[in-house]
Amino acid sequence: MKIICIGRNYAEHARELNNPVPSEPVFFLKPDTSLLVNNKPFYYPPFSNEIHYETEIVLRICRVGRFIAPQFAHRYYKEIGIGIDFTARDLQQKAKEKGLPWEMAKAFEGSAPVSAFVPLSEIPDPKRISFRLEINGKIVQQGNTADMLFGFDDLISYVSRFFTLKTGDLLFTGTPPGVGHVQKGDRLQAFLEDKLMLNFRII
Ligand code: ZN
Repeated sequence: MKIICIGRNYAEHARELNNPVPSEPVFFLKPDTSLLVNNKPFYYPPFSNEIHYETEIVLRICRVGRFIAPQFAHRYYKEIGIGIDFTARDLQQKAKEKGLPWEMAKAFEGSAPVSAFVPLSEIPDPKRISFRLEINGKIVQQGNTADMLFGFDDLISYVSRFFTLKTGDLLFTGTPPGVGHVQKGDRLQAFLEDKLMLNFRII
């Protein structure tokens, strides 16, 4: 399976990192070794001093498809979860300055904690999904999918132009503003609406 991550999909987040607001989706990949499930702890990696959380709604692809038209894209996901796109911001910043790829900063071991998935049919309003992250009991990031620049269907259509989507692939749909550091000892708890979905420690 592959993990596809959308960058800069919330205008306020693009601005907080001094990035332009994109006219087309920006995406990158993480390998399956970046997956962290069952609330396992995240090991702070030795190569970075600036690991940032990015809290994101994650779609699980449920059928194979390529060149998916936006009007049919809803058939390709039936469940959503919440994930953290851990980013070594110090390494990413250096890579950006040199115009180099981001994998070191984004695709490292354990950089994609993901919750269990719930049927989209259980979400009160699938066009306005609210989510948040708490660190040590304090809200640090809050978002609503109504603020996405590109909606779920447009994202699926766009990325399927470049490669086949397969059952079990995950799509991270971008982070709202409020990204910041984590530290060893922190407890991260991510909520979908008001349901606790992710609950793990940084060690
Ligand atoms: Zn992200």
